[in-house]
Amino acid sequence: MAISMAFSDEQKMLADMIYKWGVNWLDPQMEHHDEVDEMPKDFFKETGKLGINGLCIDEKYGGAGQGYTEVLIGTLEIGRISNALSMTWGAHLCLCVDNIKRNANEDIKQRFLPGLCDGTDIGCLGITEPNAGSDAMAMRTTAKLDGDSYIVNGSKIFITNAPVGQVLLFYVKTNPELGPKGMSALVTRIDPAPEGYSCNKIKKFGMRTSPTGELGFNDMRVPKENLVGELNKGVAILTGGLTTERITLSGCALGSAKAALDLSAKYSKERVQFGKPIAEQGQIQYKLANMYCRYETGRMLAFNAAAFVDSLTDKRGGKGTDLDMMAAASLLYCGEIGTQNCLDGIQIHGGYGYCLEYAINRHFRDSKLWEIGAGTSEVRRMIIARELLRKY
Ligand SMILES: Cc1cc2nc3c(=O)[nH]c(=O)nc-3n(C[C@H](O)[C@H](O)[C@H](O)COP(=O)(O)OP(=O)(O)OC[C@H]3O[C@@H](n4cnc5c(N)ncnc54)[C@H](O)[C@@H]3O)c2cc1C
Repeated sequence: MAISMAFSDEQKMLADMIYKWGVNWLDPQMEHHDEVDEMPKDFFKETGKLGINGLCIDEKYGGAGQGYTEVLIGTLEIGRISNALSMTWGAHLCLCVDNIKRNANEDIKQRFLPGLCDGTDIGCLGITEPNAGSDAMAMRTTAKLDGDSYIVNGSKIFITNAPVGQVLLFYVKTNPELGPKGMSALVTRIDPAPEGYSCNKIKKFGMRTSPTGELGFNDMRVPKENLVGELNKGVAILTGGLTTERITLSGCALGSAKAALDLSAKYSKERVQFGKPIAEQGQIQYKLANMYCRYETGRMLAFNAAAFVDSLTDKRGGKGTDLDMMAAASLLYCGEIGTQNCLDGIQIHGGYGYCLEYAINRHFRDSKLWEIGAGTSEVRRMIIARELLRKY
C-alpha cells in the first residue's frame, strides 16, 4: 500500500506546537528531573493545556477527535526532547484512555474520559506480572464477583505512570480455568488508593522521568459496573490495544533517533580535533549518514502503519491481520534504530557522551526500553514471522 508521507497543514501545526512547547518548557528541566528520578509535577497539566491528553478521543468526552497518525506525531515530537515523557504521555493516552474509549460502555466513558482528557487524571495500564511478561496470558491476578463488586487479588509489575496515576485499566482472570478465554478488563481509580491496593516505585537506569510501579492487590474491591467490555473477552481488548500501541509508541523511539542525529550533527560541527571540526572526518560523516537513513526509514514504517490503521473502520489487529505484522515491524525497527542512533551519537560525543548530564546519554538510556516494552524485539519478530509464513 502506497501512502503519502506529506503532512496536512493541521498536522504540521500540531507537530510544531508540541515541539516548540517541548523546547521551551520541557527541555530546560530534563537534566534535573532525570537526575532526581521524577516526572515534572505539572507535565500532564501542561499537555492538557496543549489539548493533547485526549488527542484521539471523541470531542464529546473532551478529546480532540484526531487519529493515530496525530498521536504518532505527538509521541515523536515529545520524544525528540524526552523519550521518557513521550512514553508517559503515550501510556496515558494509548494504553489507558484509548482502550477505555474503544471498549468500555457509555457509563464508564462518561465517568472516566473527561478527567483523563482535561489533565485532571493520569491513566495507566496493567498487563505485566512478575511471572507473566512476554507470556502475558499466564497472568495470575484474579477477580471474583462478590455481590456488587469484584474482589481482586494478585500483582502487576512495570506499570508506567502508576506511582502518579489516578486511573488504572488492568487485566484479570475472571475464570482462571479457561486460561486466556477467562480473562477480563477492569478499570478502577487508584488515587485515592482503594483498600487493598499498594504501589511501589521501581528504580530504573533510564526512563527516569516516567514513573514505573509494582502493584499489589489484596482483596481490592472494584465495582462490577467497572468491567470494560464483556466478561471473559479481555484477550481481544488486550491484543487489539497492543497493536495500535506498538504503532503510536514507535514515535518515542523515533524521537530519540532524531534527537541523536540533531545533537550529534551539531556537536560534530562544534568539536574541533586535529585542527578542524570532527564533522569533516569521513568516519563521523559515515555515522551521521547512517543515522539519517535509519530515522527516515523508521519514520516511513511507523507513519505507513499509522495511516493504515487510521484507514480501517474497526482498527483491530490480532492474529491473522496485516495490521498486527505492520505494528510489530514498526516498533521492532524503530526500537532497534533508536538504540543504534543513540549509540552512534554517544560515540560522536566521545567522553562527553558518556556523562550523565549530556542529553545524548539520557536518550540512550531511555531508548533501550523500546527493545523491551510493549512486547520485546524477540516477540515482535515472532509475530512478524507468524504472519509472514501464513502468506506463503
Ligand atoms: C520501563 C518499563 C515500562 C513498562 N510499562 C508497562 C506498562 O505500562 N504496562 C505493562 O503492562 N507492562 C509494562 N512494561 C512491561 C514490559 O511490557 C515487559 O517488560 C515486556 O513485555 C517483557 O516482559 P518481561 O520483562 O517479563 O521479560 P520476559 O518475558 O521474562 O523475557 C526475558 C527475555 O526472554 C525473551 N523471551 C521470552 N519468551 C521468548 C520466546 N518465546 N522466544 C524468544 N525469546 C523469548 C524476551 O524477548 C526477553 O529477551 C514495562 C516495562 C518497563 C521496563
